[in-house]
Amino acid sequence: MVCPVSLPPVGECACVELAEADLTMEPEGTNRLLQDMLARTDNEACADCGNPEPDWASLTLGVFVCQACSLLHRSIPHISRVKSIQDTWDASDVELLADLGNNVAKAKYEQNVPAFYYRPTHTDCKMLREQWIRAKYERNEFEFIEKQEAYTAGYREGFLWKRGRDNGQFLSRKFVLSEREGALKYFNKQDARDPKAIMKIETLNATFQPAKIGNPCGLQITYLKDNSTRNIFVYHSDAKMSDVVYQEMVDWFNAIRAARFHYLQVAFPGASNEELVPKLTRNFMKEGFMEKTGPKHTEGFKKRWFTMDDRRLMYFKDPLDAYARGEVFIGSKENSYTVLPGLPPTIQGYHWNHGITIVTPDRKFLFACETEAEQRDWIAAFQRVINRPMRPQEYAVEAHFKHKP
Ligand SMILES: [Zn+2]
Repeated sequence: MVCPVSLPPVGECACVELAEADLTMEPEGTNRLLQDMLARTDNEACADCGNPEPDWASLTLGVFVCQACSLLHRSIPHISRVKSIQDTWDASDVELLADLGNNVAKAKYEQNVPAFYYRPTHTDCKMLREQWIRAKYERNEFEFIEKQEAYTAGYREGFLWKRGRDNGQFLSRKFVLSEREGALKYFNKQDARDPKAIMKIETLNATFQPAKIGNPCGLQITYLKDNSTRNIFVYHSDAKMSDVVYQEMVDWFNAIRAARFHYLQVAFPGASNEELVPKLTRNFMKEGFMEKTGPKHTEGFKKRWFTMDDRRLMYFKDPLDAYARGEVFIGSKENSYTVLPGLPPTIQGYHWNHGITIVTPDRKFLFACETEAEQRDWIAAFQRVINRPMRPQEYAVEAHFKHKP
């Protein structure tokens, strides 16, 4: 405690009242304790999304979180009371935190997270991040495994709004996921015996696409039929788009992951969870509009929606099309795949200014991006795939593409 006035004789401090008031707060000690807690390795990353250097804390839960997650904690004020670490902290607040921290909270709130359960990162959509926080702290789903029935049972049925292939209208459809049958099915009529589509768990993928679908819980489901990619777009809803709706949609997502996990455990006996979990679902590496020309390079450039899904580059007329107009396999540099900025100098005609040439063993694919930033991002995405050596099963996929008409 430094006396702000002057250095009086001992026992005669002119600011004795101020000093006493400060003693009850002990701001320096409090601050030090808070800084010590933040320096602990378990508190170096957000407890909920893993973002580095969290600068908020939940006093009631005893966790350090990033600002984005702190906003989601505000939606459960009865569970979590958050405060910025830049704020003034009094001793009682710090005391609440002192014995906790991210590791202690994790041992309680994440004690039984199934291996297949999706743990969102800061790049995931808000709904997914919010439901993870609610599942942990509000519903206590990972403390009591009986609360996980919705995605661990191996069977799930319910109604989802599915986008119609031809008219783009969303209609309520019955969906059934069955691990025993190895498939996700949907039915056009409630009492229909035959499903409209059978999507094998083997090739199923699901990824949340709120912006593209125009719904906060919009889910894109892809599967292979005759080796070509098919898309369906679904969401769940009720009159008020309540929390229950979001929870159910995330339950569907995790039920699909659970089914994929159990399928892969059988398909790859002896594989570790660390090997299988990244294969359960995947986000696309990049999506967006580019222009493309045909195999002769004289066809003129047409604007198309492109999706880079692992080694498959697909293009669509509309982002929500059920079928790709075409798919290009992107192999590795060892197998003579290259990506180059720009277009060959002989290429004429109207197109966007920022070209990309992909050289495959068979032909050159020419694309044009609207902006330099888009061109750079696409090249980086292609380069990442090309730099990665091909896995044995990817040679079979490549061979299929070569035999495509
Ligand atoms: Zn976070």
